[in-house]
Amino acid sequence: MLLTKIFRENLVCIVVDEVHKVTWGAASSTSDKPFREAYSQISSFRSIGREKVPILALSATIDGDLTKLVVNSCSLSNRFRTVSSYVHRRNVRLSVVKIKKKDLNSLTWLLSDLIESYNGNIPFPRSIIFCRSLQLAGWVYVKIFKILKQSIPEDLSKLALGLFHSMTPENKNKKIILDALTSDDDNPLKIVIATSSLGCGVDMKNITYVIHFGPAYDLVDYCQQVGRAGRGNMESLCHGILYSYSDGRTQISEKMKSYINSEQCLRRFLYAPFNNNEITIESVVPAHKRCIVCAVKCKCGSCELFSFEKVKLLASAIS
Ligand SMILES: [Zn+2]
Ligand SMILES: [Zn+2]
Repeated sequence: MLLTKIFRENLVCIVVDEVHKVTWGAASSTSDKPFREAYSQISSFRSIGREKVPILALSATIDGDLTKLVVNSCSLSNRFRTVSSYVHRRNVRLSVVKIKKKDLNSLTWLLSDLIESYNGNIPFPRSIIFCRSLQLAGWVYVKIFKILKQSIPEDLSKLALGLFHSMTPENKNKKIILDALTSDDDNPLKIVIATSSLGCGVDMKNITYVIHFGPAYDLVDYCQQVGRAGRGNMESLCHGILYSYSDGRTQISEKMKSYINSEQCLRRFLYAPFNNNEITIESVVPAHKRCIVCAVKCKCGSCELFSFEKVKLLASAIS
């Protein structure tokens, strides 16, 4: 159909959503096959239409470096225009917690809350745990499942946990997880362990915790994934928590390393590049609601670190 005369003559605009994912069009260091080959064909797709068919490229997370890549990948002329709006989710607080090694004890607080929610029949905040690789996601899933089934029935443990990656069967498991994450209703699925395959183009609702067990490769991926928290009409404070252990910090971008070691506000560090380097963190008050760095410096007198952050103090005491 794309090559028919009627289509070519009537093609008025090409719209590419999630355009920061153009890198998915190329094979990665871990796979010979591109994850989404279509992203590598945007430029040739343009050639089937009239000469000046416009292209609209959309993204919620794109910084200066990626803009250059998109310009090349989409064969944009030097007359392209950028229109940007503010990316800054005020109800999501950011934490980086350094742990000594790849140890799921750092998630004890989350699993204890889940077990308590079954015992006390109280709501549990919907949560996603992102992992860099399929192997790591599988490892985390199996470990958490074993811990859970010691305290709650096995069938409930199975319902409470989901595993989402590029190999998850499309028509069954994937659909169950996506339906649960995009629904406003309470759902037995409480924690989804996922790779970066989860996220793009899915409007998830009511996610309170986005936890990274090990950093994402770069800040664009990280910002995109943290952006799953606190959507919709959520007014309560939500969290983007990154657990960083030493062997999880290999093979990540320099910007990601700098974020992990940042001594300045994590909110400013993460969101400024996506907002033309301008961001007003002062709009989030009190300061301890911005990030863990601001919380440590906050002098409001009514703040303390969250339970999931105290692991850091323990780790620092050991090292
Ligand atoms: Zn801050
Ligand atoms: Zn405070």
